[in-house]
Amino acid sequence: MLQTVANFDRIGEENAFAVLARATDLAAQGRDIINLGIGQPDFRTPEHIVEAAIKALKDGHHGYTPATGIKPLREAVSASLDRRYGAKVSPDEVMIMPGGKPTMYMAILMFGQPGVDILYPDPGFPIYRSMIEYTGARPIPVPIREENGFAFSAEETLALITPQTRLLIINSPANPTGGVTPKAEIDKLVAGLEKHPHVALMSDEIYDHMTYDGEEHVTLLNYPSIRDRLIILNGWSKTYAMTGWRLGYAIWPGKLYDLARKLAVNLHSCVNASAQYAGIAALNGPQDEVTKMVAEFDRRRGVVVKGLNALPGVSCATPKGAFYAFPNVSRTGWKAKALASSLLEDAGVALIGGPDFGILGEGYMRVSYANSTENIQKALARMGDFLSNRK
Ligand code: PLP
Repeated sequence: MLQTVANFDRIGEENAFAVLARATDLAAQGRDIINLGIGQPDFRTPEHIVEAAIKALKDGHHGYTPATGIKPLREAVSASLDRRYGAKVSPDEVMIMPGGKPTMYMAILMFGQPGVDILYPDPGFPIYRSMIEYTGARPIPVPIREENGFAFSAEETLALITPQTRLLIINSPANPTGGVTPKAEIDKLVAGLEKHPHVALMSDEIYDHMTYDGEEHVTLLNYPSIRDRLIILNGWSKTYAMTGWRLGYAIWPGKLYDLARKLAVNLHSCVNASAQYAGIAALNGPQDEVTKMVAEFDRRRGVVVKGLNALPGVSCATPKGAFYAFPNVSRTGWKAKALASSLLEDAGVALIGGPDFGILGEGYMRVSYANSTENIQKALARMGDFLSNRK
């Protein structure tokens, strides 16, 4: 028997990938499967971005780049944050990463060890907890509640901080709930954090472009009092429909930048060079396709919320961001995971059970509306038939 180190047994998973694999298997067997399980835009990457990558390859950008990313891309990130939020970030604080996840991994690795507490949203992106467990730190769930619009509660979050707390992970707009934490609550949270200077923050802002109903994304970058302990996770995956390109960026404060640079040198050397040139085109080029995608998500959001609320035993709060709805299915008579699994196997609709996102996810399911309106309507009809006929 191979003896691997025990930490590895603690690594978790993202069940969305397992559901995608099962849905693909079923489709390969000839089943008609509608996938509302996966968290990626169903759009193509805009053409001018693809062209920029092709040009970079033709121009001979085939080698390593600096581990922190090419300067024009770091400058483009800095300029875009200024344009969008009036946030002043030096290109030297920006690090280009192979997607959003590696920032999470590095940040948790920097702070996690036995004896330390790390706070993370529950329900929340499953990789937060997985990585915390891997480091041996104690995962402390911050409850994200439906009755609170799936927003962070500053009061509840602050009450969980102890002298052992080293890192607080926040995520707005949020996966899996679509919750957006309002500015007033973030103001309160930051004011409270001023009394806990030993706590670093990682703000996962990967869905920052996807807000609805006039809701505006509030970046933690605009809070000077916590800037020296703030890590930002963001990237191109969701905004520019570039999940497969593996392109993200982090903003690291102070000495964390150099730690992350060293980790990058140990881990991936640099990010794919042509993808970095594509990233410049994405940020500096026209944004109309982003606007169109967000408008389309907004339209589908309406269809999904209305359709879910019409299903027997299901109620769905209107999500304010990202591209997920998180309906409450606790009155259907089904456990959420069993319902998700039966809907896939028997009705051909792939969804993710809420418990895959945390303890408080029981009684909910994540519905991604990154699929065509036609498919969403078909899926809703199948779910309706299933819930009416199978008790
Ligand atoms: N953070 C959240 C909240 C996400 O939902 C995702 C992807 O689903 C990521 C980070 C990871 O993004 P990437 O695909 O760029 O690694």
